[in-house]
Amino acid sequence: MERSTIVRVHEGLHARPATRFVRLAKSFESEVEIVKAGKAVSAKSSVKLMLLGVKENQEVTVRANGADAVEAVEALIGYLENPRAGIEEEDADGEQKGINGEAVKPVTASPTLQETPSGGLRGVAASEGVAVGPAFAHFPPEIRPQARTLTPEEAEAEIVRFGHAVSAVQARMDKVLASEGLAAGDRGIVAALRDLAADDTLIGDAETMIRAGTDAVAAVIATAARLAAEFGSVEDPYLNARADDVQAVGRQICLALLGQDDVSLEDIPQGAILIAEDIGAWDLSRAPLKRIGGIVCGHGGATSHIAIIARSHGIPAVLGLGARVSDLRDAREIALDGNSGLVVADPAADVKAGYLQRIEEAVKERHALDVFKDVTPKRTDGTVIEVAANIGSLEEIEAAQAAGAMGVGLFRTELLFMRHMHLPSEDMQAETYAALARAFAPHPVIVRTLDIGGDKPVAGIEFPEEENPFLGWRGIRMCLDRPDIFKPQLKALLRAAVHGNVKVMLPMVSDLTEVRRAKTLIDECAGELTRDGVYFAHFHLGVMIETPAAVLIAPALAKEVSFFSIGTNDLTQYVMAADRLNPTVGALNDVANPAVMAAIEMTAKAGVEAGIMVGMCGEAAARPDLIPEFLRMGLTELSMSPASISRAKKRIVELSKE
Ligand code: PEP
Ligand code: MG
Repeated sequence: MERSTIVRVHEGLHARPATRFVRLAKSFESEVEIVKAGKAVSAKSSVKLMLLGVKENQEVTVRANGADAVEAVEALIGYLENPRAGIEEEDADGEQKGINGEAVKPVTASPTLQETPSGGLRGVAASEGVAVGPAFAHFPPEIRPQARTLTPEEAEAEIVRFGHAVSAVQARMDKVLASEGLAAGDRGIVAALRDLAADDTLIGDAETMIRAGTDAVAAVIATAARLAAEFGSVEDPYLNARADDVQAVGRQICLALLGQDDVSLEDIPQGAILIAEDIGAWDLSRAPLKRIGGIVCGHGGATSHIAIIARSHGIPAVLGLGARVSDLRDAREIALDGNSGLVVADPAADVKAGYLQRIEEAVKERHALDVFKDVTPKRTDGTVIEVAANIGSLEEIEAAQAAGAMGVGLFRTELLFMRHMHLPSEDMQAETYAALARAFAPHPVIVRTLDIGGDKPVAGIEFPEEENPFLGWRGIRMCLDRPDIFKPQLKALLRAAVHGNVKVMLPMVSDLTEVRRAKTLIDECAGELTRDGVYFAHFHLGVMIETPAAVLIAPALAKEVSFFSIGTNDLTQYVMAADRLNPTVGALNDVANPAVMAAIEMTAKAGVEAGIMVGMCGEAAARPDLIPEFLRMGLTELSMSPASISRAKKRIVELSKE
C-alpha cells in the first residue's frame, strides 16, 4: 500500500515535526517507509527521516506493509498534508517560538572566530545580554573506547548490557520529563533527546556493530560520531545542530555502560559564566539555570539547543568558539556580550567597567518597566484601561499573567484547530476555553471564533482553490456555511462561560446579517444544550472591526453587539489595499496612515455613542506612539502580546499624569 503527496508541513520534516511523524509511524504495526526522489528510509527513525531532508512542497511517497497498512498510510499522509503538523508552543528544535507562536529570530550569528582588539574572542552571538562573572570551567573527561573484540557469545551478552544502558538513559530522561520544575521549553528539548535515545538508527546501528564484535562503548561512540558527521555535513543549520544532540545522547549511553555519572553542574556558583567545550542540552536543562550568569561554548550555533535554552532563560551566551575555548580554561573571570558574540577573559579594569555599566543600564530598564506590571492604568477621568494579552494556547497563560495581563483580549482559536489532525471536539474545546476563563477570572477572556481561510488550511476542512484567499471564504464566512464546525465551538463557549468571564467575538465581519445569523446559531446551540441538560451560561458577543465595510456600518453593528475589538492588522491591509504579507507594499501597510486612523476613529465614535466597549487587538494596540490617540478616541481596552504589556501600561500612566 502506498500513496504520494506534496508535503505541506511548514518548513518540512525537520526536528519536531520529524519526531512527531516518527512517533505516529511507530504507532502502527506495519513496516513504513517514506520515499523521496527514489531514496527510501524507514519512517520509524527520526535520524533517518531528518537526514532524508524532506522539505515543504516536495513530493514524497509513504509506503506501508502490514496488517494496518491502509490506516498507517492514511494517517501519515494526513500529517504530511497539515501545514502546522508537529508544531508546539514550546517548539524546541531549532526554531524558537514566541508567545503567539511566531518564530523568534535568534540573535544574529557571527560565526567567524577572530581575535578582537581588546584581546577577546569572537564567536556566535547566541543569546543576547551582557554578563561579567567568575569563570566556571566545565570540561568533563572524554570517554575513550576500550577497543575490545568480542566473541559471538560475549557479543550477545554485550547487546543485553547495551539494552539496559539505553533503558537506563531513557528512564533518566523520562524522570526529568515527569518532574514539575522543568520549564515548558526545556521539556520540549529533553523530549527530543529522549526520542533520539530510542531512535532505531542510533540504537540499531550500534547493535549491528556490537554483533560484529565491537564492545558497546566503542560501538556507541562510533555510531554517534558517524551520525553526527552526517548531520554536520548537510546544508541546514537545524540539522547541523542535531549533531550535538546525537553526541550528547551517545555520551549518556556510554556513561551508563561504564557505570559513571557525568560531571555535575550542581556546584556552579551564583552568577558564574559556564565555559565548556560542549554542554549538552540534557545537562543544561537539569542545571541550576538561575545561578548561571552566562554561557561560553566551543560548540553550538544560534539554533542549537544550548542557544534556545539560554535565550528562553535570559542567559547571555556566546557559542561556537571552537578549540579556542580551551584558552579560557584557566580564566578567573569572564566578560561576555551575547549581542556581539564577544568574550573577554580576565578583563582589564576599564573593559570590565564598560561591561558592568551596560549590565546596570539593562537592569534599570527592565526594572523601570517591571513596576508597571501590576498597575491598573486609568484615564484622567478614572476610567480603567484594560491592558490584556493576545494568546493562542493555554501554555501561554503563565507568561501573560506574569506580564501583568488584565485578562485576554484575543484568544486566537486557530492553533487549536491547526495543531490537531482532526477537528477538535466540542468537549475538548469546552475544556480549553473553561481553563482559560478560570485562569483569568474575574478578568474577561475574549475568545475569537475560528478565523481561518484557504491560506492556512486545517485538517478536516476542505477549502476551495482561491485567487485571493484574503478576500475569500474565511473567518465568519466559512463558519456560517459550516455549522457542523461552528456549532460545536459555540456550544463549547457557552459551556465554558459558566467558569469565568467569557466573551466571544466574530472575525472578518463585513455585513449585519453575519452577526444576526451567528446570533441565531448561538440561540440554537443554547436550546440544544438546555434540551440535553448541559450547564451553560450566556456570553457577551462582540465583533472584530477589521474590514472597511464593518467600519462603515459600525453604528448599525453597535446595536447588535456588546463590544468592538479593532483588528488593525487586517483593517490596515483592507483599508490600504496592501497585502499584510507582501513586503513590496510594506510602506503602504501602515496603521498610522491617516486613512486607517480615520477608520479607527469612526469605529470608536460609533462604539462610544452606542455605549459599548471599544478595544483593539491588532499589533498597533502596543504602540506607545499611538496609544495616546487611541485613548483620545475612546478605546478602553488594548490587547497585545504579553511582552509589550508593561510598556503599554507605563505609557498610559504617563499620559494620565500629563
Ligand atoms: C487583526 O487582524 O488585527 C487581528 C488581531 O487578527 P489576526 O492578526 O489574527 O488576523
Ligand atoms: Mg485579523
